[in-house]
Amino acid sequence: MDLSRLCIHTITTRPWSLDVAIEQYSRAGIGGISVWRQALAGQDVRRAGERIGNAGLQVVSLCRAGFFTSHTAAERRQAIDGNLTAIDEAAALGAPLLVLVCGATPGQPLELSRQQIETGIAAILPHAESCGVRLGIEALHPMYAADRSAVNTLAQAIDMAQRLGSPQVGVVLDVYHVWWDPHLYDEIARCGRLGRLFAVHLSDWKVPTTDMLNDRGLMGEGCIPLAAICRAIQAAGFGGFYEVEIFSSTYWQMNQKQFLQHIIAAYTQL
Ligand code: ZN
Repeated sequence: MDLSRLCIHTITTRPWSLDVAIEQYSRAGIGGISVWRQALAGQDVRRAGERIGNAGLQVVSLCRAGFFTSHTAAERRQAIDGNLTAIDEAAALGAPLLVLVCGATPGQPLELSRQQIETGIAAILPHAESCGVRLGIEALHPMYAADRSAVNTLAQAIDMAQRLGSPQVGVVLDVYHVWWDPHLYDEIARCGRLGRLFAVHLSDWKVPTTDMLNDRGLMGEGCIPLAAICRAIQAAGFGGFYEVEIFSSTYWQMNQKQFLQHIIAAYTQL
């Protein structure tokens, strides 16, 4: 069973500390780990990166920064400073990619939020370039357009990356957020052609979904055409990791070792 291109997000096994996650992923033969910043709280980030490397795991990304929008210039400036710190953390951890959840501010037009996002990314880009950290714009499902991200389609994310014009900026494709998009397959192909497909996040959309944030399903458990999407991603020339990112109150309550076995089984079937 080849798990060399499987990556797990630490948030997926949230009850585990970073060290337990490292040990368990490594023992299972998984190739990669994406680290959520809360898993690093209170830790020496550089040392954490060393422990990951010593366990034979590759750091795929640091999650997450962004949230560039605000009614006030002072808060937008603060957000930029926070993102610069996140880039430093990614570099210290050895993460080649920082995932951006771009932000949205209730009551503010989405167009304005998108401008603020683009301005924010442009402001942090030179630092990202000098640190060798790539920035991945993740489009979020429109159900989050009010308060989490004004970037809601793959096309918007790709267009923004193109306008920013640096090879250091690309797109994070999370199937949970974009599976419904009528232009999905065309945009996956375009993203590949442009060399901007930086990362792929996997989970499934359960029916019914009982919580907007924390009721994601294991691959195969919901209605996302995962096999077709993964074929399109492969056809677009993507050679990176398939990252399992599942926020689930249900799965966080179960035995995490068993959950990890379920993840591996679901990934293998895919
Ligand atoms: Zn994601």
